[in-house]
Amino acid sequence: YHTLRFILGDQLNAAHSWFDQCDPGILYVIAELHPEATYVKHHVQKLCAFFLAMETFANELEAAGHQVCYLTLDDTKGHSLESLILAIAVRENIQTIDLQRPDEHRVLMQYKHLFEHAEQTVTLFETEHFLLPFDDIPQYFKPQHSVRMENFYRKMRQRFNILMNTDKEPEGGKWNYDSDNRNKLKAQDLNNIPAPLCFQYEVQYLLERLARHNITTIGKADNILLWPTSQQDALDLLAYFCEHLLPNFGRFQDAMTSKTPHSWSLYHSRLSFALNAKLISPMQVIDSAIARYQENDAIDIAQIEGFVRQILGWREYVRGMYWINMPDYQEQNALDAHRDLPSYFWHGDTKMHCLADAIGQSLDYAYAHHIQRLMVTGNFCLLTDIEPSQVDEWYLGIYVDALEWVELPNTRGMSQFADGGWIASKPYAASGSYIQKMSDYCTSCHYKVKDKVGEQACPLNSLYWRFMVKHRERLAKNPRIGMIYGNWDKQSDAQKHAVLQRAEWCVDNIEQL
Ligand code: FAD
Repeated sequence: YHTLRFILGDQLNAAHSWFDQCDPGILYVIAELHPEATYVKHHVQKLCAFFLAMETFANELEAAGHQVCYLTLDDTKGHSLESLILAIAVRENIQTIDLQRPDEHRVLMQYKHLFEHAEQTVTLFETEHFLLPFDDIPQYFKPQHSVRMENFYRKMRQRFNILMNTDKEPEGGKWNYDSDNRNKLKAQDLNNIPAPLCFQYEVQYLLERLARHNITTIGKADNILLWPTSQQDALDLLAYFCEHLLPNFGRFQDAMTSKTPHSWSLYHSRLSFALNAKLISPMQVIDSAIARYQENDAIDIAQIEGFVRQILGWREYVRGMYWINMPDYQEQNALDAHRDLPSYFWHGDTKMHCLADAIGQSLDYAYAHHIQRLMVTGNFCLLTDIEPSQVDEWYLGIYVDALEWVELPNTRGMSQFADGGWIASKPYAASGSYIQKMSDYCTSCHYKVKDKVGEQACPLNSLYWRFMVKHRERLAKNPRIGMIYGNWDKQSDAQKHAVLQRAEWCVDNIEQL
């Protein structure tokens, strides 16, 4: 071989120009690595999904005529990413190493090491996945500065001419239909929720491999994996989404329920793993969804715009915010939060129904939808001052789609406000009334959502006010929040005292909630 091309587990892009031609002198290497399996404690289904997708990709490349070396944990024991690449290059007497740009800063640092120390010629190629070219990120983002997603998203709509009419105006006349995306699921809606499309891969051999290598994991180990692990699976999942879920995607995007067998998935696409592993490209997803919208009258603009905003907007935006602010981002702790994450995040055993449900399904499926991540688990950590690095670690481990470039800005930035507002214009802090508005969790909860004080009062109610009072100096200036303090100030001193006392009890006894 003259060239070694290394493919990371999240670089499974069959449409990459590397694969346009077969060259018997190029050796493609895909490897399960111990450090990758252990840099955080991953959900067992996440590891199985990545390993199976990698193995499938290697088989498909080989079938297409490429030279491929797939290495399992058994083959790579004792190796780091760099040492493995170098060892193969030396063994095969290869002079050229090609890499694709990693999405995670952590991996880029390891590649930098290779650039500096390898005797071979090392070249970095783009992944050809994201819509915004990496080198354009500084045109849209400034380090340590707030950049609003909405402004970025409008520029992306214009740049890529997506959902724009011929007069260069947004289709439908509005940029954003967010206000139409806030329906609660009513009793009559619950029976109509489609079952999620789940795949059925036998992964007992992977579970055994993980056990053999003492890789500790979290979550429910199931020998049947239901996540997509090939390009074809991703396309099937996308087609299923466009057909059955897109017609109601925007409408129920923020809704939560525990009352149906499909509560865990609702109208969400569950495409994040396929996208992040690059089994499918964001443009493919957007194009298919828009094509379906154009041919199906049952899909209105609020549904398609809501979906496109997530992929063209949020997904590209958090990547920009990540890269412009790393490595500083991972050190931010603007609200000075230092409490330990309570143990129920690892088993779901809490009396708070919303939290138990969101954590429980995360452990069962390695998945929760956005509002559960942001407004249930995220909100709870925000209100109880959990150390952002512990929050990051939990999110990075538990979700099948969790890779640092997308996890960190969402967790530390959007959800924990630890960046002091680079991403969010105000903290996503909420009391029990938000949960009650968007879900049916409160009706069967141990706690009373209407109460602020007393042993059975929903902890979120007093914790919310504790948070607002604690950060008053920072938040009162914010025109989007200032008036909330009026409600607080109207209360008698005795009422305020009782609420804050209940909140202190909750944080002091956080393990008992
Ligand atoms: P859908 O609801 O069907 O949305 C479609 C797609 O839009 C998603 O697949 C995703 O690619 C994209 N998207 C939507 N929201 C966001 C967002 N805020 N940021 C980036 N992309 C978005 N997403 C991850 O992919 N990996 C993570 O590790 C991750 N961690 C998160 C942590 C927190 C605290 C929060 C609040 C959000 C996080 N998200 C993360 C974003 C979002 O919650 C998930 O992308 C989404 O829930 C995945 O499910 P889905 O594919 O069914 O999404």
